[in-house]
Amino acid sequence: MTPTEIYEAIIFDLDGTLFRGSKAIPGAVDALNALRDQIPCRFLSNNGERRAASLARRLQDFGFVAHAEEIVTSAELVLGLLGDRGEKRRILALASDDLTEALAADGHRIVDDPSADTIVVGVDRQLTRERMVQGLRAALAGAMLIGTNEDPTYPAGDGLRPAAGAYVGFFRGMGIEPVHLCGKPDEWAVRTALAQWGIRDPSRCLFVGDNLRTDIEAAARVGADSVLVLSGVSTGEDVRMAAVKPTAVVPSVADLTLPALAAITESRVANLARATEGGQA
Ligand SMILES: [Mg+2]
Repeated sequence: MTPTEIYEAIIFDLDGTLFRGSKAIPGAVDALNALRDQIPCRFLSNNGERRAASLARRLQDFGFVAHAEEIVTSAELVLGLLGDRGEKRRILALASDDLTEALAADGHRIVDDPSADTIVVGVDRQLTRERMVQGLRAALAGAMLIGTNEDPTYPAGDGLRPAAGAYVGFFRGMGIEPVHLCGKPDEWAVRTALAQWGIRDPSRCLFVGDNLRTDIEAAARVGADSVLVLSGVSTGEDVRMAAVKPTAVVPSVADLTLPALAAITESRVANLARATEGGQA
């Protein structure tokens, strides 16, 4: 079987995979635009601040062909989760201004006290001890805790900074677990995004990303193949140490041509055949 027969869709990560900061990964634009003529391409990002339309514009500015409906972010998953419930919530938002504004635009009431019935935690640049106290008291009074994702850090121009996982960690440190985590590798988050795109069989997706802990782990949790690109967070040495390994490793998304995908799927079929033989022996 060819990659076009095997894969229903290729699910790309964004940061570290298609671009880094203000620059596209060299060769990524041509590679992605060529691939998406052959296999449907979608984009799943742990960005908890920006909405799909804003990231679509960013991708288009780099030259990628990408549309808002092909993109799901952690922010979109939070908004979708709260929107699906139908009711308007009282939300204590320990999150970015963009996500807080989007929640308010969806009709939720943003509150700054323990009367909240929902706590949304992402990267909160205004976090103070007093806001943590409000969060703790709201949680103790029964508010549902939702985290954008569990990423420990993210790269900024001046080095690494604490990401949403660090803020979720404050709550975990107080003994409070999130009810939902709206990012990779959370299985609910991944399945929700795939369902939104009408993907019927998650195991027939190929995940492409730069992070073993999020992208490759996400693929493993839904039984999908994965390709690790070495243009971002994880290194070849990390792969050697990892318990969950990608189906293949390539230097960059620029190397992900249709012939390269065919080689990956062939070796995967060969591995499966060997495993079956081993099982019979
Ligand atoms: Mg990434």
